[in-house]
Amino acid sequence: MDAKLLLDAKRRGEELPAGDVRGFVAAHSAGMVPDYQMAAFLMAVCCRGMSKQETAALTKALLESGVELEWSAIAKPVADKHSTGGVGDKLSLVCLPIAASCGVAVPSLMGRGLGLTGGTVDKLESIDGFNATLGGVEFAKAVSRCGIAMSAVSPDVAPADGRLYALRDVTGTVASIPLITASILSKKLAEGAHALVFDVKCGSGAFMQTLDEARELAKSLVEGVKAAGRKATALITDMSRPLGRAVGNRNEVREALAILKCETSGSAAIAAETDLSVELASRMVALAKNTSLDNARSECRRNLANGSAYEVFAKMVESQGGKLSAMAPPPKGCVLKSPVAGTILDINALEVAKAALAAGALRRVKSDTIDPESGINLLVDVGAKVEKGGPIAEVVGRADALDVLARAFTIGSGEAGQKSLILEVVE
Ligand code: URA
Repeated sequence: MDAKLLLDAKRRGEELPAGDVRGFVAAHSAGMVPDYQMAAFLMAVCCRGMSKQETAALTKALLESGVELEWSAIAKPVADKHSTGGVGDKLSLVCLPIAASCGVAVPSLMGRGLGLTGGTVDKLESIDGFNATLGGVEFAKAVSRCGIAMSAVSPDVAPADGRLYALRDVTGTVASIPLITASILSKKLAEGAHALVFDVKCGSGAFMQTLDEARELAKSLVEGVKAAGRKATALITDMSRPLGRAVGNRNEVREALAILKCETSGSAAIAAETDLSVELASRMVALAKNTSLDNARSECRRNLANGSAYEVFAKMVESQGGKLSAMAPPPKGCVLKSPVAGTILDINALEVAKAALAAGALRRVKSDTIDPESGINLLVDVGAKVEKGGPIAEVVGRADALDVLARAFTIGSGEAGQKSLILEVVE
């Protein structure tokens, strides 16, 4: 494989042989291809795209750069879910324990938040004592013990993806469907799951802003998993409004716990979030256990209602050192009041994410520390009637987030459009 010839071919838009793609990535990992050639390759891929075969070859190359977990010692089907990231997206905290309570092993490797998107690892680490950086052996033991473990992707999983992502980040080459696909799948396939369910978020608060883009990514992810001989489904879900009412870290855990304990208080947004969690879990169970979606839905609903899913979550937290009983009661925040009387017509996810960032709940750059308690709590749902001066949200953390948060609300007369969270299913 001659790097310059490979780059020439990709620039002309030719399809590269799988062996060349894998050889190029391996040579970069070995220090034989310099970063400037890899950066040129990434830009050529951004401009020219990649065929399914090339994407599969890149995925394999990234995957094979690190360890791959395997679960033959666990007599259970294995599944996981991946979200492309949203605002208030605490669904993994709910759907994964539900799926585990139905007899599916869930070894979930997760990310931290960056920019306007939160990460499940940060949410878990807001629980006192929770260890979200398990080594390979500890992770495997935790999955055997509880049927589920949640931990940050360790450096020995797809290390080549880490190197490529760092280059993509500084060369304007993040936004490419084949590169995103290979990056996500290299880490998810390394978990060794038999089935993967993707939640591809779409809208102002998501990476994919349009349905066309989200559909393209969803198809690419599902095809990539199937090409690796595993099962997959993707739900494309709305992210134009925040999920539920809590956006932050510890406040999101509190909301997830309320859902798992069936102690939610009549909010339509939290009910929709609960339904989506159950649907994602049901898809995992149906694929992993090879059962009908209707059976899987009944089992998931039952295990949420009878407390089994909560018990699984509590056991997992305890097994990873976390102390749910030590969780402080929610602190009081600075209240945002409605400037007018009317109906909440919209709550914009992107603006709420900006407010969460301003409050201190998210990182601007990787090295930032986050305050686990800070965040945004919405106090009303879309469609609610409010008085002038009535409370509509609160900020915990830096109070200058209030001005940012105010921009998230559209309040006026008329009916609020109600949106279904699930926009499309890709199988
Ligand atoms: N998440 C990833 O893991 N990789 C990408 O390229 C984009 C989102």
